[in-house]
Amino acid sequence: MIEEEKSLNFIEEIIEEDLRNGKHDGRVLTRFPPEPNGYLHIGHAKSICLNFSLAQKYNGQTNLRFDDTNPVTEEVEYVDSIKKDIQWLGFQWAQELYTSDYFETLYDFAVQLIQKGLAYVDDSNSEEIASSKGTPTEPGIPSIYRNRSVEENLQLFSEMKAGKYKDGEKVLRAKIDLASPNMHMRDPLLYRIKHAHHHRTGDAWCIYPMYDFAHGQSDSIEKITHSVCTLEFIPHRPLYDWLIEKLEIFPSKQYEFARLNLTYTVMSKRKLLQLVNEKVVESWDDPRMPTISGLRRRGYTPASIRNFCERIGIQKRENMIDVSLLEFCIREDLNKTAWRRMAVLDPIKLIIDNLPEDHHEVFLGENNPEAEDGEGSREIPFSRELWIERDDFMEEPPKKFFRLGPGLSVRLKHGYIVTCTGYQTDENGHVTEVHCDYVANSKSGEDTSGMKVKGTIHWVSAPHAKEAEVRLYDRLFQDENPAAAEDFKSSINPDSLHIIPTAYIEPDLSNATLGKGFQFIRLGYFTLDEKYSKAERLVFNRTVTLRDSWAKVAKKG
Ligand code: ATP
Ligand code: MG
Repeated sequence: MIEEEKSLNFIEEIIEEDLRNGKHDGRVLTRFPPEPNGYLHIGHAKSICLNFSLAQKYNGQTNLRFDDTNPVTEEVEYVDSIKKDIQWLGFQWAQELYTSDYFETLYDFAVQLIQKGLAYVDDSNSEEIASSKGTPTEPGIPSIYRNRSVEENLQLFSEMKAGKYKDGEKVLRAKIDLASPNMHMRDPLLYRIKHAHHHRTGDAWCIYPMYDFAHGQSDSIEKITHSVCTLEFIPHRPLYDWLIEKLEIFPSKQYEFARLNLTYTVMSKRKLLQLVNEKVVESWDDPRMPTISGLRRRGYTPASIRNFCERIGIQKRENMIDVSLLEFCIREDLNKTAWRRMAVLDPIKLIIDNLPEDHHEVFLGENNPEAEDGEGSREIPFSRELWIERDDFMEEPPKKFFRLGPGLSVRLKHGYIVTCTGYQTDENGHVTEVHCDYVANSKSGEDTSGMKVKGTIHWVSAPHAKEAEVRLYDRLFQDENPAAAEDFKSSINPDSLHIIPTAYIEPDLSNATLGKGFQFIRLGYFTLDEKYSKAERLVFNRTVTLRDSWAKVAKKG
């Protein structure tokens, strides 16, 4: 895509306006501020791509800031996974920072607000505070503690810090406007007491800043120029600006875009954690999860996720993106890069009776027909006995079945045309093997047989085949918008994972490496499972089918 032809998104327009006006000396510094209370998901990828690409485009930088103000839900495991996922997506932050590193500064800011008469310690409990907040049309009722003196507030706040009070006994509130139409401006909480161990600061603190007090101040401490967040923070913006103005600190500005919602997907970390805890999925990186780590295990590439984020763009209104667009992006990428291989998932024997028992031949198959040089080729052994897919044979094929059935001919991919001469069944009538004759001079690429066949099927030479486990996935939810239901788990798809314990794969696939995508011809795109695949037992995940099977089902209605 040519850069000049692309129209600017609204945040780029704002940045370009700022640059024209010489704001911040032309400096652009964005940040990505995850709370380390879960693994990153595809929604976070949208924010990551946006923040890092904005900085890249305008020669700026992006900080990674862990928003670790809640000691109870945060863990080092999450910090590590977040860093790994951002790097895997292809981005590098300028600085790795932690809101908890600012606890001392934030405390000082709070003291300054108290000194300016702009914050007070309130002894009311959370119910009392909530019930005296009023409604959007009725002003709130001032707490009896609202007019404490500066000295008393300073004293109480330092006692809160020193651990003199129990959880919930006191809070620090900003003194703004109890009649404001914006509920966030009705004396919002700045600090709460929480006697809890923090993953970085240990037991140094028993008071923790609220999101609104920590977030904008952290932006300002880092001199972030454009602080991009999702739409639900629009009503927080006046408070963001008020705190920065009253503290007279660096004027970071907040801009909001619509969060990513995907059909058939839940996105909130809280819900994803529930799926893990209740063992609906195996782990955060289960290949059915919309997490970055799940998508990676499933076989998504960083480029496909970046392209997806680029394609959806950014909007100022909530919307719902069809998950098939994400699947389209990975298909598009793997079609260009995946190496073609043959594997048989539901095998039935095909015996070529007019070949000698010890017939052995090797075909060459291009690795990647989409690449100009084919990226080399691999050897495909061929013999008298092959595995083919059970559904490539029918005892009584309908018209237009261009595969195998009595008397029907088909081409073996990279090999010969074969004509079905018969089949055998067991005592239950199940087909156990299919027999055929091959057509001499019909070898792919040097076919002089003059025979025309409509179908080509994949196969694996039985004596040369390797075994592998193959895992097929379907959507985790059957509802288009599972989060809208009263219980989001009510539409969980009971058949989202199908394990094939023994599939037959062509021998070259034993050389497969982690992270490499393969197209199993006619079956989809596959990759080794980074968790379970072992040299002695390969496990492949299907990343995506070759075509959008859901769209077809929907059309058929
Ligand atoms: P969740 O609701 O999934 O728990 P969160 O917003 O609480 O997400 P944070 O760790 O606070 O998660 O988010 C870090 C950044 O990622 C924030 O700037 C947030 O706005 C952004 N983000 C989170 N979810 C999405 C989403 N679905 N689409 C776009 N950006 C998102
Ligand atoms: Mg959050």
